[in-house]
Amino acid sequence: MNVNEPSFRDSVDMMFDRAVAVMNLSPGLKQKIKVCNSTYTVRFGVRLRGEIHTFTGYRSVHSEHMEPVKGGIRYAMGVNQDEVEALAALMTYKCALVEAPFGGSKGGLCIDPRQYEEHELEQITRRFAYELIKRDLINPAQNVPAPDMGTGEREMAWIVDQYARMNTTDINARACVTGKPLNSGGIQGRVEATGRGVQFALREFFRHPEDVAAAHLSGGLAGKRAVVQGLGNVGSHAARFLSTEDDVKVVGIIERDGGLWSDVGLDIQAVLDWMKAHGGSVKGFPGATYVENGASLLEADCDFVVPAAMEGVINLSNADRIRAPLIIEAANGPITAGADAILRKKGTIIIPDMYANAGGVTVSYFEWVKNLSHIRFGRMQRRAEEARNRLLVEELETLSADQGLGWSLNSEFKNRYLRGSDELELVRSGLDDTMRIAYQSMREVWHGRNDVDDLRMAAYIVAIDRVAASYRAKGL
Ligand code: NAD
Repeated sequence: MNVNEPSFRDSVDMMFDRAVAVMNLSPGLKQKIKVCNSTYTVRFGVRLRGEIHTFTGYRSVHSEHMEPVKGGIRYAMGVNQDEVEALAALMTYKCALVEAPFGGSKGGLCIDPRQYEEHELEQITRRFAYELIKRDLINPAQNVPAPDMGTGEREMAWIVDQYARMNTTDINARACVTGKPLNSGGIQGRVEATGRGVQFALREFFRHPEDVAAAHLSGGLAGKRAVVQGLGNVGSHAARFLSTEDDVKVVGIIERDGGLWSDVGLDIQAVLDWMKAHGGSVKGFPGATYVENGASLLEADCDFVVPAAMEGVINLSNADRIRAPLIIEAANGPITAGADAILRKKGTIIIPDMYANAGGVTVSYFEWVKNLSHIRFGRMQRRAEEARNRLLVEELETLSADQGLGWSLNSEFKNRYLRGSDELELVRSGLDDTMRIAYQSMREVWHGRNDVDDLRMAAYIVAIDRVAASYRAKGL
């Protein structure tokens, strides 16, 4: 990366500064909101393959204006204090923007998970969790992690089990972490939630012709051509949903070992199957052109780009070559502050990370509530809803028969109308509602103030305003 490029945390701080410059907050409150409250660094040893290996991990708490604080745990070699603090700050703003009642936190472990066997990863994860649990840095009331890059349901299941072993009488133990598998207290729809949120965010954007026109686009999502970077948890679901449910043509995919291009659009499931069978590589996938310098596809001619892999991929070195008029930041921090300025000048519309990938924390919030209420969503209402709907349908059909009107309700409509909502439907509905409302709160500021030119600044203003209100309510 360019030496003039600020660090990830500096990038987040610069974006924060740009927003607070037009807000009416006291300098003291600005500073209080901006700083990261604490970062705990732990180094611990695990005996593996006959030798002791030392690992370094972090858990950063950015803001405790609401507790518990919330944020994923990342496993990657590049994890460092700067990155974890930047991500924790983003979590504070993200939770405020989507009205999830949490402060911001983030954790990370410097490790390449692909270098370890499953049982080794379990040992390492349990030990890392132990270090955090004993300091209340994992706790249902204080600090609730979730998956991030390099971690998933499996790691969350180990963490919840470790917490339960160390807190045998805590009735809310399952709420100590989200993103768990269903059998460990997870919720339907969490795995794909971030990708689903990206889809809902794009749908909401395309509901506003004025915003679509600002990106020099027109019409709806259908038929739009997209490039997606990173087919991990976030990118694979977003790409699959967009192509199969919204008729988006995913013409380009960028992965670690190169990219794929197809003018007619890629079959995402087929690419995922190929990657699974070929050690994660996209090379050789039939029916598409392989591009060795995958990142060059970020600059391709398309309607929108979905960077869903990692931070800093659009930076000073490539920003002026990005041709897509719309970028939706599915990853955290994929555009550096310097690149952001270049793109804004060019008129590129950026749907910011703090909003675009908030689907994960939104459904994590639902999971946490489910764990605290000890009951599956829909369990009490589903059949009652069905019975009430049936009453109406039967009455309508009786009326039709009694009065000789000769009509009956279409059976497909009846089946859909009669069915009570299960957990997955409720989760999707809650996520959709959250993504719509959060977008509208951003666009109100974007269009409503003449000192705000972009969605990122609007998102920061909405979020910071809410955090500030929360601090004021505490009497600070
Ligand atoms: P993941 O580990 O599941 O997937 C990352 C994908 O990116 C992998 O397929 C990997 O091979 C690919 N990749 C890595 N380096 C790459 C490179 N240089 N070029 C192209 N592809 C590359 O991670 P994830 O959970 O999908 O997270 C991706 C991003 O989304 C991160 O920035 C993360 O912080 C953010 N995010 C994740 C969640 C979540 O719920 N998992 C929620 C919010 C934000």
